[in-house]
Amino acid sequence: MSRHPHQNKPSEALVRQIIDFIVASHNPQANSLTIKFYGGEPLLNFEAIKTITTTIQELHRTKKITPKPSFSITTNLTLATTDILNFLIEHHYGMMISLDGKRATNDQGRGERVFDKVIHNLSYLQAKNAAMELSMTVTPHNIAKFRENWEFINSLGIPFLWKPDCSQSYSPETLEKLVNDLHACYAKPRNKIHDTSFVRISHKRQKKTHCIDPTTLATIDPQGSLLICNRVNDIIGDIWVGYDEKKILAAENAVPLFGNFIHPECPGCPSYDICKGGCYGVHLEHEEQSEMMHSTYTLNKTYCTFQHVYNVFLNESKLYHLLEGNA
Ligand code: SF4
Repeated sequence: MSRHPHQNKPSEALVRQIIDFIVASHNPQANSLTIKFYGGEPLLNFEAIKTITTTIQELHRTKKITPKPSFSITTNLTLATTDILNFLIEHHYGMMISLDGKRATNDQGRGERVFDKVIHNLSYLQAKNAAMELSMTVTPHNIAKFRENWEFINSLGIPFLWKPDCSQSYSPETLEKLVNDLHACYAKPRNKIHDTSFVRISHKRQKKTHCIDPTTLATIDPQGSLLICNRVNDIIGDIWVGYDEKKILAAENAVPLFGNFIHPECPGCPSYDICKGGCYGVHLEHEEQSEMMHSTYTLNKTYCTFQHVYNVFLNESKLYHLLEGNA
């Protein structure tokens, strides 16, 4: 619930309907039920988060929902009050918190005085041992300061990951410098590195599972539409009527993106084995005004370039053991 262009707040009635949809459509045989709030900024409607959280927990207590519910939120914490932080802690929220680096870098990208608010709230959460992770976005505007920002975030002692904004392009010089910066960052003793980015890269390309699977994942936008996922906004139903089988079928047929699709350029690529190959919503670009046919998807070259950067760094540093499943 959900990264969508519209930021309208769901009404109280809509929130009730979302809860009803979860009750009606969740898999009672599953071990767990995870509810994730994404934005934009989900704390813009904390009341909806609160209602959904407490109601779902109550429904679990009364056995109307059998899998144990858990909750997570992706937030920049700028709207968080002490009450909100306490609520998130009390309900064992996993938090992914955006912080791009030191004050100048962070506030250049995210607004004046955001850094001070985030650091203040982070200290509070750290003191309470809250479950959290930081997310550092690398852009063409801040990549020159990658090392100092990485070192600052690493010094906070909180697990973090960094990810490039692949919607923009980067000069070859900055990417070359990035490899050098990574060597300098990773020269620290292993137990002093809190960067989990490489752990998330599979050491072998994972077989892609089917993306559209209403039995395991539902993405709901603030209007109550059901989307393919939080990165691909195509509507395949709504919470009143449920999934529209015709739309699901049309998406599956028109967009091999969501099946076991491997782009023709991928086999033979030197980064094939480490390339996440996971989120096609990120690494393929949909050409506008196309009929959503197979051939209209092109690789996002910036995504590929960063895979090559990782590959070069991991080769040079002999740090392949950092990769998931290869420890
Ligand atoms: S880096 Fe690009 S071309 Fe290579 S495997 Fe990944 S998506 Fe395919």
